[in-house]
Amino acid sequence: MAWRAHSRSAEQSAALRRAARRAEAAGQGMAVLDLDGCLFDNRPRQLGILRAWAASAGQAEALAALSVGHFMDWDLQATLRRAGIPKPWIERHYEALRAAWWRGFFSSDWMHLDEPLPGAVAFTRGLAQAGLRPVYLTGRDDTMRPGTERALARAGFPWGDGRAALYTKPEAAEADHLWKARALAEIIPPEPLIVGADNEPANVNLYLNHAPDAVVLWLDTDHSPKPEPVHPEALPVRGFLS
Ligand SMILES: [Mg+2]
Repeated sequence: MAWRAHSRSAEQSAALRRAARRAEAAGQGMAVLDLDGCLFDNRPRQLGILRAWAASAGQAEALAALSVGHFMDWDLQATLRRAGIPKPWIERHYEALRAAWWRGFFSSDWMHLDEPLPGAVAFTRGLAQAGLRPVYLTGRDDTMRPGTERALARAGFPWGDGRAALYTKPEAAEADHLWKARALAEIIPPEPLIVGADNEPANVNLYLNHAPDAVVLWLDTDHSPKPEPVHPEALPVRGFLS
């Protein structure tokens, strides 16, 4: 597990082609797409939050070596250790840094730093042009909606066209996987799920259990600790470049 969103392979090209062809063959239905770790790389957002905190705490120098490549999972202490930051510094500042990360990450304030994965915009536009309705289904909660809408528009994802839809979590405390299952079962207007994409194995499996004929991409970027095994029909990709 590591971010290699710029990589290409024959297997990845075939998976992306399969999704595009399935969309063209269907001509309607929905593409259920995750945001964090899937359409968007939010490591720049995390880096920006930590750097801003460091600057405000007079600790900018201590985090100077920290870069996007050090963010490999959701363990901030491990991220700091990878950057060579001394253990005593981490122990001394971790609580404040973690609080700043939490406040910043779960808000709309820093999403302008998110970058679309290479090829993600073209891939999504292709699905929409084939007739699918892009349904952005995210674990971000309702308070994060304004920044998310701006980020979708700024990156050039289909948005604001009266078709694309964004579903954010009403209760921040609800587990992402349970929220997504509930949204598919009860909230999103029923339509055939033709293409799905997510970085969390549990969500990939949810889409395939919901729609066994769907083409579902599993983004091998990062995911929560102790993931469940990925459904054998899921198509692994590192990004969206063919
Ligand atoms: Mg995700």
